[in-house]
Amino acid sequence: MATPSHHQNPTPSTKKKKTHKNPEANFLYELNSCSKSKDLKAAISLYDSALSNNTRLNQSHFNTLLYLCSTFATDPDSKDLALRYGFRVFDHMMALNIHPNEASITSIARLSAAKGDGDYAFEMVKKLGDYQVLPRLRTYEPALFCFCQKLEAEKAYEVEEDIDKMGLSLEEPQIAALLKLSADTWRGERVYNYLHNLRRSVRWVSEETCKVLEDWFCCKASEIGSDVGSVKEAILRNGGGWHGLGWIGEGKWVVKKGNVEPNGRCCCCGEQLDCVDIDDVETEKFALSVAGLALEREVKANFREFQDWLEKYADYEAIVDGANIGLYQQNFAEGGFSVLQLDAVIKEMYTRSGNKWPLVILHNKRVRALLENPSHRKLVEEWMANGVLYTTPHGSNDDWYWLYATVKLRCLLVTNDEMRDHIFELLGSSFFLKWKERFDIHF
Ligand SMILES: [Zn+2]
Repeated sequence: MATPSHHQNPTPSTKKKKTHKNPEANFLYELNSCSKSKDLKAAISLYDSALSNNTRLNQSHFNTLLYLCSTFATDPDSKDLALRYGFRVFDHMMALNIHPNEASITSIARLSAAKGDGDYAFEMVKKLGDYQVLPRLRTYEPALFCFCQKLEAEKAYEVEEDIDKMGLSLEEPQIAALLKLSADTWRGERVYNYLHNLRRSVRWVSEETCKVLEDWFCCKASEIGSDVGSVKEAILRNGGGWHGLGWIGEGKWVVKKGNVEPNGRCCCCGEQLDCVDIDDVETEKFALSVAGLALEREVKANFREFQDWLEKYADYEAIVDGANIGLYQQNFAEGGFSVLQLDAVIKEMYTRSGNKWPLVILHNKRVRALLENPSHRKLVEEWMANGVLYTTPHGSNDDWYWLYATVKLRCLLVTNDEMRDHIFELLGSSFFLKWKERFDIHF
């Protein structure tokens, strides 16, 4: 370590020595500033001088150079230089036996795609396996987009399969590219599947994706669809609007932009739309994950008992988060739990559903307190007599109970909270957002 006096008065010789001693660090520092200022030419001349000085280069040096080259690979003025040096740098790195990482491969794949060589880009992604490195979605993008652009459909689908095998999910840009490719090559079955993929994972499509869809339905879509009978049967079997049997109907498609009313009616044609965003398999999986988390946190026997009970009396259409409704906008300072407010919701749900009682989940501490109060007692007993109430046991968190019941029975949930974050973070599921959109009623 330098002493303070050293630090204040560095002799010219030590300063010079320091620069000379660590040319690698120096080189990286200068390279990074080229990268920041996006100066490709300066970076290349640095590289050239490092070569003539025999500077020992490492993975960071190569990655910085590769990244810079790849960002210029689509720039008309610098493309040639970027490609020439990009591949040279990569070959140099491989010759030194320095292992590429995901960033190096993404850069070289981008360079290959810029050259129009999707095959090499894809080969590079596969090479990552040799180094036990996992690719990311961005690593695949150059190969995928390159194949899509050149209408090399089979190769693009192969990249898609590989992405899937890696457990990665396509996002809108990739789905849209595959959709366009499939439309341009007249593969109706594929278009149909990508449409459903958009529905499942994207939900809101961009203007560009809309154009692809319009183009398909205006100019290319086939006129013959599945027969209506088998579609109806499939819808019944799946418990919803989803049938998965392909296009229905005959004649030319009418393409219009319009809105959907809150009740699900189409503003353009007045038809009632089916809800197809929640399918049975997904829902069952979600119910299982809720149960799994609940069983980890709740007394197992209690929660199992609830599951069995639900199985037996599974005839509800709505679940009421009792504590939440009873306490909503009550003055907490006075400890207010409004039995009348909760009762009003229960009766409202009863009438709305054509005389079916909802299920109210309430903690036993709360129920006991209500029963001890003579002015509430009658109402609570009435709920019990009507089979409205499920009392969760001592020490339980009733959130798990209403959540599980709602998902398991595909019920509507009546609550006021923006649903409680601590639970929903645990579920960490995009499925939950869809589900919430569909089943959450605010009182
Ligand atoms: Zn319509």
